Amino acid sequence: MPLADIQDRIAAACAKAGRPLQDVTLIAVSKVQPNARVAAVLDQGHRVFGENKVQEAAGKWPMFRESYDGIALHLIGPLQTNKAKAAVELAQAIHTLDRPKLAQVLARLAQESGACPDLFVQVNTGEEPQKAGVLPADVDAFVAEARALDLPIAGLMCIPPVDEEPSLHFALLAKMAARNGLTGLSMGMSGDFESAIALGATHVRIGAAIFGERVAG
Ligand SMILES: *Cc1c(COP(=O)(O)O)cnc(C)c1O
Repeated sequence: MPLADIQDRIAAACAKAGRPLQDVTLIAVSKVQPNARVAAVLDQGHRVFGENKVQEAAGKWPMFRESYDGIALHLIGPLQTNKAKAAVELAQAIHTLDRPKLAQVLARLAQESGACPDLFVQVNTGEEPQKAGVLPADVDAFVAEARALDLPIAGLMCIPPVDEEPSLHFALLAKMAARNGLTGLSMGMSGDFESAIALGATHVRIGAAIFGERVAG
């Protein structure tokens, strides 16, 4: 059972790092997966899921919530401001706060509704032009700006460049979080979550290793 295998590997990584297991949340990334595979993971008792598109999430999670209690949904993909309202209504956490305009829209929505999902600031640790995220040099100012808007900043998130050693990026993210007094670290995917846990990850985002390869289209 892939879910149980991943849970065992997370527990082993925590033990090796001398960290309590409850410090690490497993986000099962269900994007593009057939509903039957997602239901199978729900049936095993898992309740924390990740999606990267608001529209896709809105198409399946209200339905699953009718049958399963206690689901926590984390949005981990780029978020357009015109989808922010749907996002805050659907999700318990958004991992991709990456620009001032989005911070302003989320702050307005939070004031109107009196609630806001936990927010992670996405950092473009590899400074890749095609990738979203705040540049490392701008992180401290951006976190301060978001806090000034009363946004609940839980931590930082990164997606390391595919062709680089991820642990360097995880260590950089941990250092930036610590100097900003942030405890949340959303880092680590199917191929590298154990090294992310060794470097302080509090949220690992794992898709293919749980559900199998994503079905195209
Ligand atoms: C798809 C995705 C993941 C999961 O990737 P896997 O390699 O399938 O574990 C994690 N984080 C983000 C931001 C993603 O888009």
